[in-house]
Amino acid sequence: MAQFQAVKGAKDIFPEEIVRWHYIEEVIRSVTALYGFSEVRTPVFEYTELFQRGIGSTTDIVGKEMFTFLPDPNGRSITLRPEMTAGVMRAFLQKNPGGGVPVHKLYYISDLFRKERPQAGRQRQFTQFGAELLGVSSPAAVVEAISLMMQVFGTLGLHGLKLRINSLGDLEDRSRYREELRRYLEPYRDELDEASRERFEKNPLRILDSKNPAVQGIVAGAPKLLDCIKPEGRAEFDRVLGYLADRDIAYEVDHLLVRGLDYYGHTAFEVVSSELGAQDALGGGGRYDALSKELGGSAEIPAVGFAVGMERLIIAMEKQGLFAALSPRGPQVFVVLQDAGLEEHAMRIADRLRRAGVTTETDLAGRSMKAQMREANRLLAGFALFVGQDEVASGNFTLKNLRTSEQVTLALDAIPGVLLESSKL
Ligand code: AMP
Repeated sequence: MAQFQAVKGAKDIFPEEIVRWHYIEEVIRSVTALYGFSEVRTPVFEYTELFQRGIGSTTDIVGKEMFTFLPDPNGRSITLRPEMTAGVMRAFLQKNPGGGVPVHKLYYISDLFRKERPQAGRQRQFTQFGAELLGVSSPAAVVEAISLMMQVFGTLGLHGLKLRINSLGDLEDRSRYREELRRYLEPYRDELDEASRERFEKNPLRILDSKNPAVQGIVAGAPKLLDCIKPEGRAEFDRVLGYLADRDIAYEVDHLLVRGLDYYGHTAFEVVSSELGAQDALGGGGRYDALSKELGGSAEIPAVGFAVGMERLIIAMEKQGLFAALSPRGPQVFVVLQDAGLEEHAMRIADRLRRAGVTTETDLAGRSMKAQMREANRLLAGFALFVGQDEVASGNFTLKNLRTSEQVTLALDAIPGVLLESSKL
């Protein structure tokens, strides 16, 4: 029988790589705390209608990328979450049915599932870090969300990122613009590719962010969405841009930015990295005031949020050498058994050290002393502690620093103190 492999588009993460995840997660947790965001965790699956209503049935995600199944023949269809915002809003509405709650600031680091064609930076199971500000979507709130995202990138040391921003206006603005865009595109209809022709009827705005150069050539001359926005919306967008400039956050107004999810309105943004090749979007977000009602909420809950792909973050950081300082940490001490028959002593010593807060490894496989030393070095242990007949009899043990080869002999009780002291150096 052929050996099992991971499902296509899903990846395993081993300790060599997990240190990178932990590092990024730590930065995310500390920066989100600076802005007063707390973590939210929601179920991995939701009823399928949540995404159909929330994300929109004409989007790529809902149209062709969802992992959907029936839990039982008479059950309601369930989908593995392809994004977090709809689920977070659903959870929030469920917890606060009457609305009227103060501002909530939530963040997540969560696994998502989309049936896309796997390639570099595109997986079928992937992870997003994101934040949602619920209860307010003023220009100040939008800029707070963007600042948080940019501060995470900045703290990680990423450079060469581009923040693109646009306003999608309100529903009325977009519907007016949709007609204008169709009028503009009508004479080019035969020149559009198949995907764009399909979008022409259902969701012509998505033609704007086509990756096909021929289509890009056509939409370059299209009327601008920003020009269709009512003056109040335009003034709000200008305030967002003003606040960004005030914070020295560089941006580029991108008239073709529409985002692939239906729930966005007014400000939308995206961050791209030149390190990412074809899949260059690192993250994106925007305002989504309409979502709460779309999900059956009794009140409109103004909201703004963003999501960043963790795998792409790792690719970009790797390319910029930002993991170089992340050295794996070995155990502080490896207990080396010198003579057979002392296994219990060694185990007891390891146990004492661990209880005293010293990270400790010991031989579990009855290996020779040479093999144990090799293992201690492979694990990058700081010290070797030798346990032999003489040591057990005298109660004094030799501790060898594996970097400097210096040795000291100490009573067992003194060892944790010495090791904890040395780990502070
Ligand atoms: P979206 O929810 O589509 O706006 O995606 C936000 C971010 O999630 C993107 O900019 C990517 O960094 C990441 N992302 C989206 N889809 C995938 C995928 N299939 N594989 C890996 N990362 C993804």
